[in-house]
Amino acid sequence: MGSICAAPSRPVFDPPAVALACGLRVEIADLGVWGGAVLISEYDGQAGTVRVNARALAAFGAPAGAGRADIEQLRNFAIAHELFHHYEARGLVPRLRGRARREAAADVFARANVAVDDRLDAFLRRAAGSPLGI
Ligand SMILES: [Zn+2]
Repeated sequence: MGSICAAPSRPVFDPPAVALACGLRVEIADLGVWGGAVLISEYDGQAGTVRVNARALAAFGAPAGAGRADIEQLRNFAIAHELFHHYEARGLVPRLRGRARREAAADVFARANVAVDDRLDAFLRRAAGSPLGI
């Protein structure tokens, strides 16, 4: 039975599933506050773990109108971003010189694979101004 829609559907990139397939564990953890900066997530290559900061998810999900879908969107973006760092560590993508360029590349990868609406975009831009970024 075919679809009545002629447009082919785009394969869905599911960051948690991709992380699992890469042998990575994803944890929601309290990564604390870093001098007032929003640390969204981190990649721990030695532990094979991506950690998403519970504080960032709470901050993003707190305003009225935000819901579970918003929080999942941020979580998926963070996992996709950290997947890029995993690919760097494994030599699957070039490791650029300079932390700022590597962070920008990880964000480009995440934005190419996870839908980012205006609210998430604003949140990410505020986080990008922090010394730790994501
Ligand atoms: Zn990063």
